[in-house]
Order: sequence, then C-alpha cells, then structure tokens
Amino acid sequence: MLIHNIGEFYTGDLDAPVLPVRALAIAGGLIAELDPPSHQGFDTVIDAAGCAVVPGLIDGHVHPVAGEWTPTQDAIGWVGNYLHGGTTSMLSAGELHTPGLDYGRMTPDLVTALAEVNASTFANQRPAGVKLHAGTALLVPGMSERHFDRLAAAGARLVKFLFYPFSRDPDEARRYVQWARDRGLRSKVHTGGVSRSGVSQMCGFDVLSWLQPDIAAHVSGGPIPMSDADLDRVVDELRMPLELCSSGNYRSGHRAVTRLVARGELGRLTLGSDTPGGTGVIPRGAWRNVLFLASMCGLSPGQAIAVATGNTARAHGLAEGILAPGRPADLALCGPVEGSAGSTLADAVAHGDLPGITHVLIDGRAVVAGRSRQTPPPRLRPVVACCGPNFGAAA
Ligand SMILES: [Zn+2]
Repeated sequence: MLIHNIGEFYTGDLDAPVLPVRALAIAGGLIAELDPPSHQGFDTVIDAAGCAVVPGLIDGHVHPVAGEWTPTQDAIGWVGNYLHGGTTSMLSAGELHTPGLDYGRMTPDLVTALAEVNASTFANQRPAGVKLHAGTALLVPGMSERHFDRLAAAGARLVKFLFYPFSRDPDEARRYVQWARDRGLRSKVHTGGVSRSGVSQMCGFDVLSWLQPDIAAHVSGGPIPMSDADLDRVVDELRMPLELCSSGNYRSGHRAVTRLVARGELGRLTLGSDTPGGTGVIPRGAWRNVLFLASMCGLSPGQAIAVATGNTARAHGLAEGILAPGRPADLALCGPVEGSAGSTLADAVAHGDLPGITHVLIDGRAVVAGRSRQTPPPRLRPVVACCGPNFGAAA
C-alpha cells in the first residue's frame, strides 16, 4: 500500500515528532519505507489529498469486561466506537467491572483465573480489530510466583495494584513488582483517592516511592488526585512514567504536565481514558487528552500526539505508536474540520479543536475507510485510487 500526498506527518517520537514526509509505503502490516523513491507497483494507493498521517492513538487505561460489551454505563460496541475516534491499541487497567465480582473476597486463584480468561479471550478475538491487551490481574495478598507464571503464560502484559492493602506487607508488594518484571510483565498502581468502587486503596508519593512500580496510573486523579504536595514530589523525586487520564482533575493534570515540561521530562508522560467507568464511555477520549495537552498545557501538537502514541506505547512495552520503518502500520488519516481554526491539523490541535478522521489502519488493513462515525468529516478528503486486498475488511 502507498499513501501519498501527505500534508503533515506525525511520527509519534517525542525527539522528532513532525517530519516532512510526503509518502509512506506499507507491506506485510508494517511501515516499509518513508518517501519511497517510486510510487509504482502498489496494490492499494491512497491519495491523502493533503491530510495528516498520525499514529493510531494508544489508550493506556481502559476497563473492558467481555469483548465489545461492558455493563459499565450499559455499553455495547464501545471498542469499535473508540476505534472510530482514532484509538488502535488499548491496555486494560483491570477487568474489575465483571458483574458479581466481590472485591472483598478475591483470592489469588480467582484474580489469576479471571486474568487468564481475559488475556486469552481478548487475544483470540480482537474486538473491532483493536489491539486490546486484557488480562490485567488485580493483585491481592497471598499470591505466589506460580500465579505470576500463569499470568505470563496467558500472555498478560500488566498487573495492577488497586485493592491491594499497601500497609499490610510492603515486602510482599515489592516482591510482586519484581516477580512481574522477572516475567516481562509491568506493574501499574492506582494513585489518588478512593475510586467509584469505594474500596480502592489510597496512594500518593509515599507508596510510590517505596513500591517503585513501572507506571503510576492517573496521577491527576481517577477520579480523585493525590495532594498537590504529593504530586510535585512524584514529578520531582521519582523517575517512573506518569499517566494522565480523562477521568482526572484538569487542574492537577495541568500542574503535573507543566512541571514535567519545566524539568525536561516529558518523556515520562503517558495517557489513558480510564473508561468505560464512572466518567463514561468516551470514543473521542484519546484525542481529547491530546487537545488538552496542546491547547492548555503548552505542548506543541507534535509533542502532544507523541505523548498519546510513542510515549504511551513505550511505557507498556508495545511496538506500536511510532511511524518508522519496521513498526506496525497502525495510523489514521485526519485533518481540520470545516469551520475549525487554522488550515492544518497542527493549527486545529493547537487551538484545541477535534480533528476529522477519514481512515484508520491497523497492521496495514483499513478498519475505518472513508468516514469516521465518531468525528465530523475533515475539510480535505483522501481518495483511494486503487483498491487491493487490504481494503477487504473495511468497516
Ligand atoms: Zn481505572
């Protein structure tokens, strides 16, 4: 596949977030070449008509239950709706909304088995074609290395401290972080005040400093943030990636981001929606995070997009999120909407305006083709000049 006539090219790489690339070749599901010397011999050719190419957004914090269904806010088809909002990869922060799950009576075997079921079922059947990594165990006291072996064997990527009582046995909690790392799993920790569940554990600077997890979840609140003093110390004194979520407190989010920028540590910032949940089901949530960073927190559009893609992918060990040769061809074509400020995607994003999406590709296959059902149409309309097998499954 060839995409040419690209108006703006966003790499997802914070070190060089925008490049003057005008064409892109895709083969075998991967980016094959940027600006290929010849435009002949391709099965499928998309004339981007001056639209922007952006990496598929990575939602680092979702709460799936079973495929496209979640009882949260009575939603079905939510994953496909997020895909049409430009999200191509998601990471579960725990499947805690499973109906009937009694948070007060979860055993090591139960949380491990639940994660095994979800890791395997979501891997066998990608909802709406989205790369949704589920099977994030909700850690409880009393787990052994055998449980972590089972999680790794099931293909899980993350483990989560959410209900775990931190004051009970810090040594055990630290062992969990290490056992996860030993098996290629990453650990994420709920931070801030109590969540909608009513029984999540509070976590601020103190717990993060002795636990040293791989990622601190929703540091601006999910939904309630840690104190300003704790947040400042988490930014200044710790080194781990810090996640910002749509469920959070805007003021705390602004505080964390401007402090990271001032320290030259934007590379630590990652994004998620923390949905479906009490905040709702937000198909355009990943883009709304980008727009918040670019229009309210002083990031350039390229930096904001790189945080939502390359940064978030790297924190979770994914190859996606960067548009460079050899990387998965997960991307979106988009541009400013009629009536939006500015004539380029960069202008629109800097102003905080949602872009219009026409095409979304996952592994080089068009999963949204011609029109997103979640955004207005962009002013510029790409044209598919000839249509090969990669368009067979267009949604
Ligand atoms: Zn969450």
